[in-house]
Amino acid sequence: MKKMKSNLLSIVTAASFLTCACGTKKFSMSGPFNAVVLAFSGTNSSGGAEYELKEKQFRTLTNFNELDGTYLTIRRGGALTIREINGSIVQSENFTGGESPGLRYNVKSGAAIPLDYSTLAMLSAYYQIDEIYSTLEEKTGLAPSTLQAIIPGGKHVMLFEPEIKITGKGSDIALGMKLNAAFSPSDKKFLLFQRSPIENVPLAANFQVLTHEFGHFVFDYSFFNGKFEATNRWGSEWTMRGVNEGFADFISWSFTNSTDILRSSINIKTIADERDFGKTTFTFEDLAGLDPTACSGQFYCIGSLFARSLVQTQTALQATVTKKEMATAVIDTLKLCQADMTAMDVAIMPVENTNADQLSVDAQYTRNGQIAGGFLRAFVLRAPANLKSELCTAFKNNFGTHGFPTVARTGSCD
Ligand SMILES: [Zn+2]
Repeated sequence: MKKMKSNLLSIVTAASFLTCACGTKKFSMSGPFNAVVLAFSGTNSSGGAEYELKEKQFRTLTNFNELDGTYLTIRRGGALTIREINGSIVQSENFTGGESPGLRYNVKSGAAIPLDYSTLAMLSAYYQIDEIYSTLEEKTGLAPSTLQAIIPGGKHVMLFEPEIKITGKGSDIALGMKLNAAFSPSDKKFLLFQRSPIENVPLAANFQVLTHEFGHFVFDYSFFNGKFEATNRWGSEWTMRGVNEGFADFISWSFTNSTDILRSSINIKTIADERDFGKTTFTFEDLAGLDPTACSGQFYCIGSLFARSLVQTQTALQATVTKKEMATAVIDTLKLCQADMTAMDVAIMPVENTNADQLSVDAQYTRNGQIAGGFLRAFVLRAPANLKSELCTAFKNNFGTHGFPTVARTGSCD
């Protein structure tokens, strides 16, 4: 079932169709377990992702009915209090309640066949994380145990459709429109919300979206050295939020080979087009002014420039640098940037200004460009020698002199 155009109801109907004349036996023994999930099946000739409903084997799942395994446990419902929302990153305050997944399925020929949307979504979401950890080292060079060490309790908790209460910035509208999947850095939780009517492949089951959210976790590990703190200056700088988003898109690309992160889930063409960093051509210069028409996604636009630069660099060097080597290099380089940025001369990196959002639009644009420049300087100086020249070319092309000012280039790219 490729190029799925149907909605979830018909997906579940299709899954149930496979169950004809089967029993309602439950899994009770240990794995490995098989189940029908909505799985990523590769990219098509235009670079878009394709999905199919298919029986898959879980490699890291140890308790099927609890959806609990080596790297992940899924909890359903409960109440989550959120203090702040930035893109798909939330600052959560606490979580109470939460139940067992309550899966409803039949077993046919040793495989679980979901009987409702929630079961299909949770099984599919678990499968995506299972796939990420099973291929993590091959795709990025990172050992799963390295990441496990920074997760409270050694495994992620994924909250499926929790009830949300917001205490600080953000709004219910933002939640409804944007937050379908999110990552919470303080406790390394993944969040999956009620599906929205504009979804095609449900975001919860979308490998591209979950690899993007996982990318935020890897950014915590690398740029923030595994110690995310809400008070960290770089966590709240607008430009660096964008870099975090771009890195997450880059990690998604590392797993899927697609730069078109949202198209398979979001039917709104303009949103999908704008987030396809392989096809957009806007530069930092195009982001000046209020509500720039070239890209309306605010700090996500910075992210697209960063992700595009990294992919262009690997593409230019593909004869000698594999995608895995590129991912490893980017992750290792990011580990070294924060300290350099904090120690940077004020002639290159602006001092912290918690009221930066009160500045004029032009002043904010200049300041955001200076911060981008400081970051790119640190990144190039710390990058492996064989990448530096191509990184400089890509950063100059995409960020221009406003997003990569001359003073930041001196001694790094000039
Ligand atoms: Zn994100």
